[in-house]
Amino acid sequence: MLNCRDVGSNATEFLSGALPMRVNLMVVWHLLRCGNCRLAVIQVLTMLRALRRRPAKPPTEEQIQAWLKALDHSHDHDHPDHTHH
Ligand SMILES: [Zn+2]
Repeated sequence: MLNCRDVGSNATEFLSGALPMRVNLMVVWHLLRCGNCRLAVIQVLTMLRALRRRPAKPPTEEQIQAWLKALDHSHDHDHPDHTHH
């Protein structure tokens, strides 16, 4: 499981699609549970969009919106593979 520091240092790679799928999922998993990292990632995302950088595999506007939507709604809906403690 990633901690906040791992997520922070991987945020740019995560958003540019450069992470291996497995790590990507771990980041998403963390973001669903951690509001601080969600905000941090959204800030990086906003920055990347503002700079109009072109990563190897840029997320589409649709993908970005899907992420933001998933993150926003993560508390409202029970995910099938969500474990409660
Ligand atoms: Zn965190």
